[in-house]
Amino acid sequence: MTDLTEVRAEVAAWLTQAWDPELSLAQWRARLADSGWACPTWPREWGGRGLPAAAAAVVAQEFERSGAVPAPEGVGMNLAGPTILEHGSDELKRRFLRPTVTGQISWCQLFSEPGAGSDLAGLQARAQRDGGEFIVSGQKVWNTSAHHADFGLLLARTDWDVPKHRGISYFVLPMRQAGVEVRPLRQMNGHASFNEVFLDRARIPAGNVIGDVDGGWTVALATLAHERRLAAFSRPPALRPPALRRAPPGTGRAVREAAAESERAMAPYRWYPQRAGRPDLVIERAVAAGRHADPLVRQEIVKLITLAWSARWTAQRAAAARALGRPPGPEGSVAKLASSNVARAAARVHALIAGPAGLLAGPDDPSGGTISEILLSVPAVSIAGGTDQIQRTILGERILGLPREPAADAGVPFRDVRRSG
Ligand SMILES: Cc1cc2nc3c(=O)[nH]c(=O)nc-3n(C[C@H](O)[C@H](O)[C@H](O)COP(=O)(O)OP(=O)(O)OC[C@H]3O[C@@H](n4cnc5c(N)ncnc54)[C@H](O)[C@@H]3O)c2cc1C
Repeated sequence: MTDLTEVRAEVAAWLTQAWDPELSLAQWRARLADSGWACPTWPREWGGRGLPAAAAAVVAQEFERSGAVPAPEGVGMNLAGPTILEHGSDELKRRFLRPTVTGQISWCQLFSEPGAGSDLAGLQARAQRDGGEFIVSGQKVWNTSAHHADFGLLLARTDWDVPKHRGISYFVLPMRQAGVEVRPLRQMNGHASFNEVFLDRARIPAGNVIGDVDGGWTVALATLAHERRLAAFSRPPALRPPALRRAPPGTGRAVREAAAESERAMAPYRWYPQRAGRPDLVIERAVAAGRHADPLVRQEIVKLITLAWSARWTAQRAAAARALGRPPGPEGSVAKLASSNVARAAARVHALIAGPAGLLAGPDDPSGGTISEILLSVPAVSIAGGTDQIQRTILGERILGLPREPAADAGVPFRDVRRSG
């Protein structure tokens, strides 16, 4: 078993010797990619260090402590990299892993369609082989980051004459081409973070299939498992005790360039902390509003904080189990459900504390609109990455062993399935 103390010492020593804030961001990321510390849990031959999941947290802490710029966040490192590692050909790994780690290329996820969200396997984007390429047409929706992505993780139907799960293929779609049109969607909280993506005879090299042609569902499940875990285990940073909060950013060229990159990339997602409900803010809000002596408010705050910390400990137990090499259990779905419950409970407590003032937005609101942004943003947590109802079905069927949900389309060729659109 890997000694995490040794890992900590090793990465700390490497950072002491290698971290140079005066490098350009590109130079630093190249050095980081060479070292394997950018993605310590990936295999050595593909740019990692072959360490267990628990080591990632230790490495991240050392990066935070030293102020060094880590690998880029987002769909690339979190979904594309792991999916290609697990199911991609060596050629795909060679082409895409390193540029993802260095931040030279960025990614989006093109799964959902207007008629295929919870029933993702009912998707209708179609891809047809044409010599050395596939030609793909259809519409995707809710695509985070699609407006600045170089490549998309795309699911499209390649066989209509088999049951729905068996005729799907998984592609790496080059986004910057004539057949791909990205249109932003404006949300009820005023931001525009997601997109519709229209595909009209877009072209994909045949070598860009991840896994087998028509075998994309298995690959999609791998991506979704990573996504669920990510959604469940990312916590609002401010839930951490103040002493553990991120060190103030340093100075130097790499730091400045990373900050500018992050500012550009994250601008549409400024509301993300609010969608988690901001349980960290309730006490200071209660004090500021003079509601902290109200027994009802106090009781609701305690219930919320208990829920938030229990969810956090569940996540930590899951991480510990993974570090011991145990197979993934129900924690992904449990923790994702818990994060929805925490967000909703926090929104309720904020509304209780703020009263009608919680409806004020922007400059009208002394809090800068944070509370109304929370109230309008938390529903996203219960939908993104699989709805609460779907998580409950997963838990019921796979963990509790309850009878499977009846499926009218089981075994029916997709062409003959009744569907809208
Ligand atoms: C913030 C956000 C970010 C997203 N980012 C992306 C992205 O980057 N890429 C991407 O491809 N997609 C993305 N999505 C889309 C997301 O995956 C879908 O919205 C989600 O899977 C739900 O699908 P739907 O919207 O079609 O709702 P539907 O599937 O139509 O569901 C509507 C309602 O019916 C319920 N329901 C549906 N089926 C069942 C059932 N069998 N049993 C019980 N209840 C059921 C649902 O729980 C829900 O309440 C994002 C969504 C959000 C909100």
